[in-house]
Amino acid sequence: MHGYGGAEQLFYEDAPEPKLESGAVVVKLKAAAINHIDIWNRMGATGIAVPIPHILGADGAGIVAEIDANVANIKAGDRVCLYPPTGCGRCEFCLTGRDFMCFRLRVLGERLEGTYAQYVKLPAQNCFPIPADYSFEEAAAFPLVFITLWRMLITNAELKPGETVLIIGVGGGVASASLQVAKKIGARVIVTSSSEEKLARAKNLGADHGIHHRTEDLIAEVRRLTGERGVDVVLDCVGGEVWRKSLGCLALGGRLVTCGATAGGHAVDDIAEICSKELTICGSTLGSPEEFRLLISFLNAAKIRPIIDSVFPLSEAAAAQRYVEEARQFGKVVLEIPD
Ligand SMILES: [Zn+2]
Repeated sequence: MHGYGGAEQLFYEDAPEPKLESGAVVVKLKAAAINHIDIWNRMGATGIAVPIPHILGADGAGIVAEIDANVANIKAGDRVCLYPPTGCGRCEFCLTGRDFMCFRLRVLGERLEGTYAQYVKLPAQNCFPIPADYSFEEAAAFPLVFITLWRMLITNAELKPGETVLIIGVGGGVASASLQVAKKIGARVIVTSSSEEKLARAKNLGADHGIHHRTEDLIAEVRRLTGERGVDVVLDCVGGEVWRKSLGCLALGGRLVTCGATAGGHAVDDIAEICSKELTICGSTLGSPEEFRLLISFLNAAKIRPIIDSVFPLSEAAAAQRYVEEARQFGKVVLEIPD
């Protein structure tokens, strides 16, 4: 990335290979995945200034190529997926296993050089074994979206078997992965989309009901489907004008969870509704290394694979980002990295 702005700021060119440091590893990447955070970083929307040129990419998978002598958790030649955030190791959040809340947080592709590259350097403890039978593309596609939804749905919303969850905008990576996890733990799942095709794909993945949010009245339809009760949990990473409706879909004591707002971060709340219905609103960002470890065990046990919409060569990273910006995907868009 040669500057902040549109996808035209991305160039496919040679860059110096990362140099090994104490406690670090260099991973030869086989695949990376596109996330909205890459696009926000490219636009400069995160407010984080990085040295330019910069390599984007929070998600990746590959083979450990070089390793510091002090590293014990992995060895050269291991197939690894990458836990994207790393903290300072000293603050109150790092010392309580919440590195992702560190004031000095560094995330791959953000303050750290990222994964749209043949090699990436990162702390050894950020490398985890790839879930059984996953391809490199699948191993690159799952970390950021699944760790985010895991913290949102399982840790924060405490979604339980038998509860009903409403997932707003099912095409996105977090939303489609949430559908997979929620169904696997035995929840009833209602999804929304403005695309008939995406609603049909969601139903193939187990969604119990689909609501077309342009042609149907979201709150009325949710009330009808839940016997006027409302849903236990809403997952809304769209925000904007949808947010108020998301609150309206919740049952008494319901929980709304969010990890971002692709349609705008200045939503209007009805504070009276939050009070009178005893609603809980949880923000989530990423998740802890312990949650990541549990997640990998869950993916192995539940035999869930990430949904891959399409694979672009690394040289077409700009086209891949445009495709995601236009919200044309269902599931993840992956970059294949040449040897
Ligand atoms: Zn810290």
